[in-house]
Parts: sequence; C-alpha cells; structure tokens
Amino acid sequence: VPILFMHQVERHYSQGEATLDILRGAELALWPGQSVALVAPSGAGKSTLLHLAGLLEHPDHGDVYIGGKATANLPDAERTRIRRVEIGFVYQSHHLLPEFTALENVVLPQLIRGLGRAEAKKRAAELLGYLGLKARLNHRPAELSGGEQQRVAIARAVANAPRILLADEPTGNLDVKTAEHVFAAFNQLVSASGLATIIATHNMDIAARMDRRVTIRDGLVVELD
Ligand code: ADP
Ligand code: ADP
Repeated sequence: VPILFMHQVERHYSQGEATLDILRGAELALWPGQSVALVAPSGAGKSTLLHLAGLLEHPDHGDVYIGGKATANLPDAERTRIRRVEIGFVYQSHHLLPEFTALENVVLPQLIRGLGRAEAKKRAAELLGYLGLKARLNHRPAELSGGEQQRVAIARAVANAPRILLADEPTGNLDVKTAEHVFAAFNQLVSASGLATIIATHNMDIAARMDRRVTIRDGLVVELD
C-alpha cells in the first residue's frame, strides 16, 4: 500500500464573500521510499496540500490514508500520535528553538516521543554528524549559517525515524550554492533511510532529481513529464 494516499481531497477557504477552491478531489499516492517534487506557482496550494498530508489540517471532504489507515475521522489525539511517529516536517525557515543548541533541538522531539535522554542524544549526534554538523552540535541556531540551520531542521524532522518527510520550500531562503549543499544532505538522508518524501520547491534542479514531479492544477494533483 502507499505510505501516503490522499483520496478525493477537498479544501476550500472562504475569503469574505468568495470561496477559494484550493483542492477539489485531489488524488496522490506516495509509495514507500519514493520522492516527489511538488512544483506549482505561489498560491496554488502547495502548503495546504502538505498540511493535509501531514495531518495538520482536516480536509473538507475525502481522506488521507497513512500506511493504509484512514485518518479523517480519527480523534485529534490519534492524528497527533500518527503525525509524531510517521511524519517529519521541514519548513522554509528553520523554526529551531533559539535557546537550545543544535543537539538539543534534535533531542527534544525524541524526548516528547518518550525516548530516554541518553539514547536521544546518541541519535541526535549521529544524525547531525551524518549531515556534516559534527563540529556544530553545541551551537545555538543564531551561531549557525542558513545552510547549517536547515540541516539541523532536517535532522530534527527525521529524529523520530518517520516514514514520510514533508518539506515546504526547504531551500527557499538560501542562495543557490547553499541550497545545493542542503539538498545534497537531504537527498543523501532520504535515500539512505528509505523515507518517502514530498518536497515543495521552485528549484527545478532539485525537482529534476526526484522520482516524480507533480503540480496542482484546477484543484487536482497532476503528474508532470
Ligand atoms: P502555496 O503554498 O502554493 O503558496 P497555499 O497553500 O499557502 O499556497 O495557499 C493557497 C491559497 O489559499 C492562497 O491563495 C492562500 O492565500 C489561501 N489560503 C491559505 N490558507 C488559508 C486560510 N487559512 N484561510 C484562507 N485562505 C487561505
Ligand atoms: P555558509 O557559507 O555555510 O552559508 P557562513 O559564511 O554564514 O556559512 O558562515 C561560515 C561559518 O561561520 C559557519 O560554519 C558558521 O557556523 C559560522 N558562523 C556564522 N555566523 C556565526 C555567528 N553569528 N556566530 C558564530 N559562528 C558563526
């Protein structure tokens, strides 16, 4: 079964008198280990789609299946549990906690999930080392470059070994060279761990290196090339 299956998903926003039909029956199947680039103009609904896929929002109609399990009618606590276990997020800005070091930022989600501190620290150090941040473990976000901050955010997103990684323009704030560097780290991690990933991006070099490219057209998810 697909690790993520969005079925007949609708999302409408009311804007004053008008209704904005962002998604109107969207279908998307993401298979384990598969990488998908979501390429669409600003305002097309990329963030909306990722928030629905990540169980951060409810669809107005349809359902989102995670590992074959329908989620629309689950209690919020169960949706939150599934999100914590199965799904990691990376945003355009890093959203790291400024008072915490790189290591602590990656430790924290593991503690929330219930892992012991020693084990969480070990995994955090391994992940950050793998992403080329061995010498940055005890730096706070403000002491890191933009590329380093994003790599910490990637480590945090996969700290609990999710099966799905959702990234919303993760290199959007970075210059071309740093974006390439961060994407290389991202891609290496994704391939090594067998993660399924959707990455919303305007960067066509990045999109070209994913397994599939999709866009949002007339409220539907459409395959490109
Ligand atoms: P993208 O990520 O592709 O730029 P978004 O999913 O952020 O697109 O937004 C799609 C459209 O829906 C935009 O026009 C945005 O203004 C609108 N929108 C997003 N969230 C809301 C909301 N909570 N309420 C009303 N309109 C929204
Ligand atoms: P990059 O070229 O990777 O984007 P920068 O030129 O911004 O990085 O920074 C180079 C190095 O200096 C980075 O490894 C970063 O950790 C360190 N650095 C950047 N800003 C600060 C700061 N405010 N305090 C301490 N170290 C910093």
